[in-house]
Amino acid sequence: MTGIAKQGILVGLILLGACSTYTGKGSYTQPGISKREESMTRSRKKMDTPEKDHQSHAASHGGKAVHWSYSGEEGPAHWGDLSEDYAACNGKNQSPINLTGFIEADLKPIEFTYHAGGKEILNNGHTIQINYKEGSRIVVDGITFWLKQFHFHAPSENQIDGQSYPMEVHLVHASKEGHLAVIGVMVVEGAENKTLTQAWSHIPAKAGNHHALLVPVAAAGLLPAKRDYYRFNGSLTTPPCSEGVRWLVMKEPITASKKQIETFTRVMHHPNNRPIQPTYARPVLQ
Ligand SMILES: [Zn+2]
Repeated sequence: MTGIAKQGILVGLILLGACSTYTGKGSYTQPGISKREESMTRSRKKMDTPEKDHQSHAASHGGKAVHWSYSGEEGPAHWGDLSEDYAACNGKNQSPINLTGFIEADLKPIEFTYHAGGKEILNNGHTIQINYKEGSRIVVDGITFWLKQFHFHAPSENQIDGQSYPMEVHLVHASKEGHLAVIGVMVVEGAENKTLTQAWSHIPAKAGNHHALLVPVAAAGLLPAKRDYYRFNGSLTTPPCSEGVRWLVMKEPITASKKQIETFTRVMHHPNNRPIQPTYARPVLQ
């Protein structure tokens, strides 16, 4: 498999929320997976048990993700050992981290070109995710990264100087080569957030459900007014925990009302933050 094909599957996983509980039909054909494999995966899905998933041949080809969770035997401490595909979860450049010991750097402003484009909201059992229409982008290091989706964690996954926040937004972008850049935005309790008001009015209460957003949701409403940020190298915070992700965490938090935060935590039923990972030799730039 070529590097690009591999990255294609990675982006496919990201669109799916890297999860096996989403059973929407048709709209998520993963790049690099044939129709036949896809339909095999679907028919297998009906009778699957987690044990079967574990041994599934399809798993090693990205056809069917091995089940994982935020606690117990399939919890974060075991992710790296649940599947060969999740081996990166045991790596040394993992996210989230406690952002601290900042190194002064001349970080260039991130160029944002966001249009209202949230087209679908889904509950994949691990998070609430809004999939985004093509055309919104950021430019970092002279590279264009396209906004694919955004989703939420409560409490926050990253910490800043040891401080955790009630919620964190992850805006996931991919370059045309399949490289990833994630913007993290901390959420504190305060004024209601209009983007959330719009999205939450269609929030699917049940894992596996999704709803179309007929009026596109604007991701720009999830960015703080001041766009100063911290930067470090990290990974996806959910299996397969792929590394080589550019992490850009906004210094300024946004607000959401108590009710908006509670709407999310109620639908999730459990905290969905991976524990802090060791930083090892990585610098955090500011
Ligand atoms: Zn995330």
